[in-house]
Amino acid sequence: MTKILTLFALISLVLGCENPQKTSEKTSKSDQSEIKNAENAENFGIVIHGGAGTILKENMSDSLEAAYKAKLEEAIRVGHEILKNGGTAMEAVTKTINVMEDSPLFNAGKGAVFTHEGTNELDASVMDGATLNAGAVAGVTRIKNPIDLALSVMNDSPHVMLSGKGAETFAIEKGFQLVDPSYFFTESRFQSLQRILEKEKTEAVKDNKSAFADPFIKDSKFGTVGCAALDKNGNLAAGTSTGGMTNKRWNRIGDAPIIGAGTYANNATCAVSSTGWGEFFIRAMVAHDISALMEYKGLSLQEAAKEVIQKKVPALGGDGGIVSIDKDGNVAMEFNTAGMYRAHMNSDGELIIGIYKD
Ligand code: ASP
Repeated sequence: MTKILTLFALISLVLGCENPQKTSEKTSKSDQSEIKNAENAENFGIVIHGGAGTILKENMSDSLEAAYKAKLEEAIRVGHEILKNGGTAMEAVTKTINVMEDSPLFNAGKGAVFTHEGTNELDASVMDGATLNAGAVAGVTRIKNPIDLALSVMNDSPHVMLSGKGAETFAIEKGFQLVDPSYFFTESRFQSLQRILEKEKTEAVKDNKSAFADPFIKDSKFGTVGCAALDKNGNLAAGTSTGGMTNKRWNRIGDAPIIGAGTYANNATCAVSSTGWGEFFIRAMVAHDISALMEYKGLSLQEAAKEVIQKKVPALGGDGGIVSIDKDGNVAMEFNTAGMYRAHMNSDGELIIGIYKD
């Protein structure tokens, strides 16, 4: 009994010594966020994209245009409501992306494009600007909402990126319900693949780049979705989710799950989500480059986004766009294609929705 009491006293002493330090760490962290909160009081915002490419008014029916606008508005309002009620930027980003993943209009989740073999392989990533934590999944085939799995990789694993079967085993362990791959079938995406396969038969594929170099083929990738948000605590987050590019082969992985290319967030600068020709976005490290230009060169978000999207990416031969929000709530929706599905909502609830260049 005496031994047990002595042990208890010792444990209490150790815990007692440890606690004040932990509490003071917590106090200083919450002090910091309170200061930020005061500085950024009510200054929150959210910006989304639903893919960039040759999106032309003359090719769009009124009803399809209305459907895109309605879904963009539905999605951004979900995230805006979360931010308005004091929710985190990460929650706003993932819940907003869920709405677009569940819509067949976009190339993410339901509506993902088809691989050369007629399957769907999905990629997604998230990044938290407060901690610089990140999570990503690549080449998953049975995850209904890949952005949720990317978040779980960030929160529940010691890793940043999981791929293929391993990512799905992790998902099962974490209680995700897997869907049958047929869930991702949509007739219009399947027909896009058939058209490309026909075209490939008639036009000899000269090298392994030509399948994407053909504008018709390249432009059937539209609809990757992404979101960047600033919450009331001054924290930034970004996320991106995609089916990749139609007719992709060999377990090709694009920029969307690559931290720094498709997604990046840093409370010191901005949060970015990319959409476009992934091979070029990886090589240009688009999302991180925008942040780095702000951090190291002092450029504004708008200047940095222009530099990367209008100069660096096209100089390499690539195309696409980004949406981004900075630590002060400024927003960039920059693209070098004919159009980009996009929307922005600020803390006053003002909503901007765009599809074409003007
Ligand atoms: N960036 C995506 C990829 O290359 C495609 C897209 O954004 O449209 O996989």
